[in-house]
Amino acid sequence: MRIILVGPPGAGKGTQAQVLQQTFNIPHISTGDLLRQAVREETALGKQARSYMDKGELVPDELVTAMVAERLQRPDCASGFLLDGFPRTIAQAEALAVELARSGKELDGVISIMVPRADLIERLSGRRVCRECGAMYHERFDPPKKAGICDRCQGTLYQRSDDNAETVSARLSVYERATAPLLSYYRDRALLYEIDGSGTPEEVSQRITATLKSV
Ligand code: ADP
Ligand code: ADP
Ligand code: ZN
Repeated sequence: MRIILVGPPGAGKGTQAQVLQQTFNIPHISTGDLLRQAVREETALGKQARSYMDKGELVPDELVTAMVAERLQRPDCASGFLLDGFPRTIAQAEALAVELARSGKELDGVISIMVPRADLIERLSGRRVCRECGAMYHERFDPPKKAGICDRCQGTLYQRSDDNAETVSARLSVYERATAPLLSYYRDRALLYEIDGSGTPEEVSQRITATLKSV
């Protein structure tokens, strides 16, 4: 199964990806996570990516595309993958198409998660992430049992530096301008499945899983 998750920041891509990777037994590839790791490790890529991420802008296509191409060549992607946060521009979608064609592979579907803007802002402002295992929480909608501590690994939870009001608003504009055009790109190729992202995470997972099982 080769799947893409598209959606504005806060739509629940990461949350759903954690469920889907288990249901379909495929690796979850989040370009946001890979880039944050590069920034933390201060690699050449991380040094270039940082200023864009801090401002809520997109990291240049060439950098992200090369990173993903390298990731897709690893053996764990042989039987499929779940891309979260990539592609985010038409140029990235075209680069991915070239990369897949080269290895004779095709996408099975693109899941677009749709959530009203007011809910996105609420979800992002309360998002907390485990520093150790990456598990996602929400201050109000999905709080950990003990404040600030991950239920799964006892790691400390933190708030992403780009989840502040100003950067969130920049990221939402970037989504509308650069990423939303991907919806018609994939609709034209009969790959797009639009999913209502409101309701509980379990309700959303059920919608996505039912859709993917019928593909
Ligand atoms: P969210 O979960 O809020 O959608 P991500 O974790 O996916 O955000 O991405 C965080 C930041 O990383 C983005 O604002 C952008 O700067 C950078 N980024 C992630 N994926 C891409 C991509 N495919 N192309 C360009 N920049 C990206
Ligand atoms: P994305 O990867 O699309 O940016 P996340 O999966 O990180 O989104 O979710 C953003 C925040 O919203 C997190 O704090 C997460 O716990 C919360 N969240 C995810 N799905 C839902 C949902 N269906 N209802 C309420 N909150 C949710
Ligand atoms: Zn944890």
